[in-house]
Amino acid sequence: MSRQYNFSAGPAALPEDVLRQAQAEMLEWSGAHASVMEISHRGKEFIALAEAAECDLRELLDVPSGYKVLFLQGGATQHFAQIPLNFARREQSVDYVLTGDWSEKAAKEAKPLAKVRIAASSAATNYDRIPPRVEWDLDRDAAYLHITPNETIRGVEFHEIPDAGGVPLIGDVSSTILSRPLDVSRYAMLYAGAQKNIGPSGLVVAIVRDDLLERCPKDIPKILSYAEHAAQGSMLNTPNTWGWYLAGLVFKWVKAQGGVAAMAERNRAKAELLYGYIDASGWYRNPVEKSARSWMNVPFTLPREELDAPFLKESEQAGLLALKGHRAVGGMRASIYNAMPLEGVQALVDFMKDFARRNG
Ligand code: PLP
Repeated sequence: MSRQYNFSAGPAALPEDVLRQAQAEMLEWSGAHASVMEISHRGKEFIALAEAAECDLRELLDVPSGYKVLFLQGGATQHFAQIPLNFARREQSVDYVLTGDWSEKAAKEAKPLAKVRIAASSAATNYDRIPPRVEWDLDRDAAYLHITPNETIRGVEFHEIPDAGGVPLIGDVSSTILSRPLDVSRYAMLYAGAQKNIGPSGLVVAIVRDDLLERCPKDIPKILSYAEHAAQGSMLNTPNTWGWYLAGLVFKWVKAQGGVAAMAERNRAKAELLYGYIDASGWYRNPVEKSARSWMNVPFTLPREELDAPFLKESEQAGLLALKGHRAVGGMRASIYNAMPLEGVQALVDFMKDFARRNG
């Protein structure tokens, strides 16, 4: 069976070259006479791999000094809770900007642990935009401000990093990391579940500024403390070695593509092609305000709901996988992460045109 164009939102398609390399090295990795999954994380071979992956990520994102890069576990969801546990203070609020389902979940998880304030929300318009910055009600004394730079479900993306008014800014970049250049220095912390642009699920990459780490309380369990993970080089316990290895291969792949600036050019072209066709069609519809449309996740609807099932069936037959929209939204969603080539988006557009012509 040949591989097909996979539009899954996550776990998502990985670059084929990376999968082939992993396959070739599966039984014996780098002279270790064993798989990379079968060797100690404390041995010099794995340490070298881990350091190279960190180094490549730092280079790709131009991470300034004064930040720790951590390779953690638990999925992004665990960090929804871990962030307030580490950085909230009893007397301080924590501010959240709600732009979709993931920021909503992040705020909900923080509630048992912190005084959560909603600084802005576009819930009233069904999360079809970023609330204008002038309307945000920020608490200048908040412990942090949390945003979700790309909302994977409804396809809403910040195309500029907002001014956080001097409050430490924390961003869940699960579905946008490595898709474009990112000014890390504007954030106190970034974190990302790996299963879109980095590697397999379960691994979480976090980039945390040192002064934020200094705030981690000493009286929380070590396994939940970012400061402890940082002090132990992300090896407080056995890390997700397989995920770390694959992430390292993906970072090398992104570098070979020309880095995040080159990825951004490709991703912009892919997004323009797909949104351009959707808008021009007058048949398909994307509900998101143009200035907030995601480069990574493109939800769209057909004119009549009864066309959804045939669209999905026929697109799959045409080799276009996983186009079903999230259950919270319905319709379709094409996730076009880094590993999706322009040809895949062109194949989707060609299919959509043909489907519209036959059913219009
Ligand atoms: N945040 C965003 C933006 C996501 O897209 C997802 C889903 O993958 C998550 C958080 C949750 O990640 P996980 O399932 O790894 O906990």
